[in-house]
Amino acid sequence: MTLSVPADVISRVKAVLGEGGWSQDPERLAPKLVEWRDRWTGATPLLVLPRTTAQVSAVVGICAEAGAPITPQGGNTGLVGGQIPQGEILLSTERLRSVREVDLEDDVMVAEAGVTLAAAHEAAAAAGRRFPLSLASEGSATIGGLVSTNAGGTAVLRYGTMRDLVIGIEAVLPNGEIWNGLKRLRKDNTGYDLKQLLIGAEGTLGVVTAAALELHPVLASRAVAFAGVADPAAAVRLLGRAKAETGGAVEAFELIGRLGIELAIRNLPGLREPLESRPPWYVLIEAASGEPGAAEASMERLLGAALEDGLVLDAAVAQSESQAKAFWALREGQSAAQKPEGPAWKHDVSAPVSRIASFIEAAGEALGRRFPGVRIDAFGHVGDGNIHYDVLAPAGGDPAAHAARRDEGARIVHDLIASFEGSISAEHGLGTMKTAEALTYKSPVEVEALRAVRRALDPKRIMNPRVLF
Ligand SMILES: Cc1cc2nc3c(=O)[nH]c(=O)nc-3n(C[C@H](O)[C@H](O)[C@H](O)COP(=O)(O)OP(=O)(O)OC[C@H]3O[C@@H](n4cnc5c(N)ncnc54)[C@H](O)[C@@H]3O)c2cc1C
Repeated sequence: MTLSVPADVISRVKAVLGEGGWSQDPERLAPKLVEWRDRWTGATPLLVLPRTTAQVSAVVGICAEAGAPITPQGGNTGLVGGQIPQGEILLSTERLRSVREVDLEDDVMVAEAGVTLAAAHEAAAAAGRRFPLSLASEGSATIGGLVSTNAGGTAVLRYGTMRDLVIGIEAVLPNGEIWNGLKRLRKDNTGYDLKQLLIGAEGTLGVVTAAALELHPVLASRAVAFAGVADPAAAVRLLGRAKAETGGAVEAFELIGRLGIELAIRNLPGLREPLESRPPWYVLIEAASGEPGAAEASMERLLGAALEDGLVLDAAVAQSESQAKAFWALREGQSAAQKPEGPAWKHDVSAPVSRIASFIEAAGEALGRRFPGVRIDAFGHVGDGNIHYDVLAPAGGDPAAHAARRDEGARIVHDLIASFEGSISAEHGLGTMKTAEALTYKSPVEVEALRAVRRALDPKRIMNPRVLF
C-alpha cells in the first residue's frame, strides 16, 4: 500500500519549517529509506527535519487537518520496518538532539527524541550517573525510538525496559497538540497513564519529542564472564543460582549457542574463542555491585560452585576491561555475524523463563522435521525469557529458496511460542512486519479496545498508518 500526500500539504509544511527544515534531495533521503539489513525500502514525498517541539506540532497540525500520513523516524535501527515510509511524510528527529537537563537531586535526565542512546549514556556519565538501558544499536538508536518501541536490551533483568526507565514524556499528539508530560514523579496515581500508552506505540499515537529518564548510580565493581553449559535448561538453572549468589546484582544473562560463536569468529574481524573447550551453549553473565570487589567475588563463588557440581562445563571471567569488551563483542555481533550467511528467518520471541528451554528444544525439533538441515542460531536475553530465535539456510543451501520459506517457518515458531504462553514480539515491536500476524494471537476483545484508543486519538489514522491495529 503506497500512501499519498496532497501537494498543498507539502508546500505548507515546507513554509512552516523554512530552509534546512526539510529535504527532497534523493541523496539526503536515501539512507532513511532503507533498513540496515536491506529488508525494507521505502518512499516519501518529503523528509521533514523539525528542530523544536513547536515545529513538530506545526507539521502534525497541518497533516491532521488534511488527513495526510506521517511516519516518524529516529535512528532507523528498528527491526520490524515501522520506521520506513511508503509514501507518508517522513518526520526525522535527527535535529531534536539536545539533552535539556540532568538533575542529580531527582536523578532524572530530560533528553530530546533525537538524542542517541550513546549520547544519553555520555551525558549521564559526565554527571556521575548512569542510564542503564543498553543495546548493540546504541550509537544510532534514539530516545524517541527507544520509547516508541519500549526497547529492552541487555540490562532488563535488573532495570526493566523503557517502560520502567521513562518517568515523563513530551509528545505531539495526532491532532498536532503538544502534551507536556515531562513529570519527574516516581509515584502518580491520577488515572490512566498517557505516558505508558505512548511507550511502545511505535509512532501511532503521536511523535515523542522528549523524555524524562531515570538515572541510576554508577556501580563500583563489575564482573563479566562466559560460562559453558550443556543446554538452555542448564542455563536457566544457572540463572536462578546467579540471582541468589549475587543478591540480585546480575545485570545481564545472555545465551549464545555454539553456532553463534562460530559465526561471530568466522564473519567478524578480531574475535576469538571465549572458551577453548568449545561447549555446546554459552552464557555471558555480567554482575555489578556498589561495593568494591563484590561483583568479582560473587561471580567467582557462583562459577566455582557450578563448575564443581557440573552445572557449568567451563568458564572464564574477564580479567580486564578490554577482555570484557571482547566477550560482549561476541554477543553484540550476533546479528551482523549472520549477514554473510545469507537471509535468516528472525524471530524475537519470549516465554516465561521457566519454559524457554523447552521452547528452544521443541522449536529445534519442529523445524528440523519440516526443513531438514536448517541452522538454528538461538541467542539473547534468556534471563528475561527472550530469545532471538534465528534460522539460517542449511550450509551450502540456496539463500533465495530459504528466504521464500520465511513465513512458513515463522508460523511454526510463532504457533509454538504461543502454545508456551509466550509472545511473538518480545522487544522489537510489530512494525509492518508482524502487525497482521499479531492479530492471529491477540484476542478480539483486546484488539477492539486498542483500536478504540487509536480511533479516539487519531480519528483520521494519520500517524504511522500501516503499523499496529
Ligand atoms: C544491532 C541491533 C541490535 C538491537 N538490539 C536490540 C535490543 O537488544 N533490544 C531492543 O529492544 N531492540 C534492539 N534493537 C532494535 C532497535 O535498536 C530498537 O527498536 C530501537 O528502539 C529503535 O530506535 P530508533 O531510534 O532506531 O527507532 P527507529 O528505527 O527510527 O523507529 C522505530 C519505531 O519507532 C517509531 N519512532 C521513532 N522515533 C519516534 C518518535 N520520536 N516518536 C514516535 N515514534 C517514533 C518509528 O516510527 C518506528 O515505528 C536492535 C537493533 C539493531 C540494529
